[in-house]
Amino acid sequence: MTAPQKSELLGLDIQELTVLVQDAGEPAYRARQLFEAIYRQRVHSLEEISTLPIEFRRALAERAVTVGQPRIESQYLSSDGTIRYLIAFADGHSVETVWMPEGDGGEAGDGSEAGTEYEVPSTEYPVPSRESPSSVLGTRNSVLGTRRNRATICVSSQVGCAVDCRFCLTALLGLQRNLSAGEIVGQVAAVLDERGVALERDRINLVFMGQGEPFLNYDNFIKAVRLLAEGLGIAESRMTVSTSGIVPRIYDLGREPLRPKLAISLNASNDASRRELMPITRKWDLEQLMAAARAFPLRPRERLTFEYVLLDQVNDSVEAARELVELVRGIRAKVNLIALNPGPGIDFRTPAEERVLAFQQVLVKAGIPTFIRRPRGRDIYAACGQLKLSVA
Ligand code: SAH
Ligand code: SF4
Repeated sequence: MTAPQKSELLGLDIQELTVLVQDAGEPAYRARQLFEAIYRQRVHSLEEISTLPIEFRRALAERAVTVGQPRIESQYLSSDGTIRYLIAFADGHSVETVWMPEGDGGEAGDGSEAGTEYEVPSTEYPVPSRESPSSVLGTRNSVLGTRRNRATICVSSQVGCAVDCRFCLTALLGLQRNLSAGEIVGQVAAVLDERGVALERDRINLVFMGQGEPFLNYDNFIKAVRLLAEGLGIAESRMTVSTSGIVPRIYDLGREPLRPKLAISLNASNDASRRELMPITRKWDLEQLMAAARAFPLRPRERLTFEYVLLDQVNDSVEAARELVELVRGIRAKVNLIALNPGPGIDFRTPAEERVLAFQQVLVKAGIPTFIRRPRGRDIYAACGQLKLSVA
């Protein structure tokens, strides 16, 4: 007799859970009980689902059904409070998920959280800390006290990435595989549990800006968004997805009834420069990308975000800033500037503070809300573009 195939509940939506319970000869309302237990209560095992009869739990266990929460393999604490988690899945692959207390200074739709604080970049690559975060931030239980958590979780959508942007460490991994919807949701659930978050009390934002290009794993990504919103209870207005410019999927996202806010990684002010930095520009050029951005249906008070990684002497001139103003003109948008986070194998330098501020000034004077994203967790390789499993 062959062992039953393992299956995981995390990642199943209400329709799929309904099929599962009906196959097991149980009434359909058990699907809702399972849904509540997996996503709202975030149980780790079938035994914890006390709303289900014990025989049904046993029957599921016999069919090798598990909840399927991924495991936190290791964690690194930055001096700024950022924590980089390495999260492992059943097949041995792992991705990084980052916890940033108090937001990352750029994800709030209205820009209210965005600081203009600028940290002089370090040119060294410090050894990542292996210190346990619990010694600094309190254990899971002490976080459960009365203090409110305010944080942003940066979520991965793929293991590695195929897009090959020249300034990004994740690109060096290549694409290993897509993550399932359950694995995307599982990262969030695992980090929320580890941090002792109660969503009804704490203010949590999600950014799909970790490893991978979410729009090259669109179906799993958007299913995860629905489960995070309808299951876990994180409002769609607290989620932002960032794309390198997969144009057809920008139109698709605009048609979704439930969707995060959209950020587009521009990183260059003209096609020639963008082709050098982001080879994806050969497939969809700036004209096509900006047409999709202009057509994107924004909700009242919603803004589009454009991200722009500043590379010293490459795309950070005042002339480039003026070109960027023309590109963005007429779109209800804000711009997040990210001074390059350096890494081994990346052939660019971080611009000096004056260059970053001069670039920002051009945009601000043209009336475009422009923020400088604070680097978070650079010392532990948790900052934008630094996520790469092998740097552990
Ligand atoms: N793949 C998606 C989302 C993940 S990358 C995308 O590219 O949009 C998230 C952000 O980090 C992007 O805006 C990207 O341009 C930026 N980024 C990549 N490498 C970086 C680096 N070395 N320093 C600073 N930002 C970087
Ligand atoms: Fe992929 Fe985004 Fe990195 Fe480009 S910047 S290689 S799209 S993760």
